[in-house]
Amino acid sequence: MAIKCALAVLLLTNQAWAWNAAGHRIASAIAYDLLTDKARKRVDSLLAAHPDYAAWSRDAPADPRRARAVFLAASVWPDEIRSDKRFYDDTRENAHPTPLLTGFPSMARHVNWHYIDVPVPVDGAPAQPPAHDNALVELRRILKEIKNQDEKIGAYDLPWLIHLEEDVHQPLHCVSRFVQSQPKGDAGGNNVYVTPGRNLHALWDSAAGTDSTDALASRVAAEISAEFMEQNGRHSRVSKDPRKWVSEGFQLAIHDVYTFGLDTGLRDHPIALTERYQSDVHRIARTRVALAGFRLAAVLNDRFK
Ligand SMILES: [Zn+2]
Repeated sequence: MAIKCALAVLLLTNQAWAWNAAGHRIASAIAYDLLTDKARKRVDSLLAAHPDYAAWSRDAPADPRRARAVFLAASVWPDEIRSDKRFYDDTRENAHPTPLLTGFPSMARHVNWHYIDVPVPVDGAPAQPPAHDNALVELRRILKEIKNQDEKIGAYDLPWLIHLEEDVHQPLHCVSRFVQSQPKGDAGGNNVYVTPGRNLHALWDSAAGTDSTDALASRVAAEISAEFMEQNGRHSRVSKDPRKWVSEGFQLAIHDVYTFGLDTGLRDHPIALTERYQSDVHRIARTRVALAGFRLAAVLNDRFK
């Protein structure tokens, strides 16, 4: 009985929050291979100073590939600490902070840093503004500070910069849709039930791939970089402004994500998405992951020049 209850709670709260590990690793592989020597050295040394470096490098191949594997591992760290008992959920009422461990400036999970809920009001439903703590605020803070940050804070902030930059390239990390039947918003599509998949957010999270091994991430990274270059040209301007990244996500949400009407689906009666919709998701997700990789390299090369 206890197990059943626990399972029911788990299912009810089984929300998706980010590109899956494959999406992050693919974008990170693209970015790492575009770093200048100088930026790469700085990035490598900051990650080597992170208190969880040993865990990231444990299964990594030997040098010179080790640092690249560490960069890919660091990109999913902000998701991994959601289930890491050393950290606590600071967004819970009456949260009990866990003891501060050596090297960490904070033990909070910061689960609200992964997204910004820019409201998409569609049928006259009143909308709520984004919460004060959000991905855009954190991205702008880290981008401003990281260049001159002391080693300890820089080492802590860098995995967040990598991860959040990638997260906001998933359009459903940039919005919450408000409809009359869902006045509190849909939490970036987490409360829109679709088939195939669990919910709209999860479908988009896994759209760039599901195999998170370094080998496959690197292969897909090479494929989608080539696709992107072919479509956009090698010298297309790469935006380094997180506000632009988020506003693109908002536009995509309106024009390409919520194209199935006002329906929000039900758990036992989900919206059946067409084959066409699914192939559009796949195509757009690949472009977004490619852009995330190019832009991440651009901001790191710029900050560490
Ligand atoms: Zn995330």
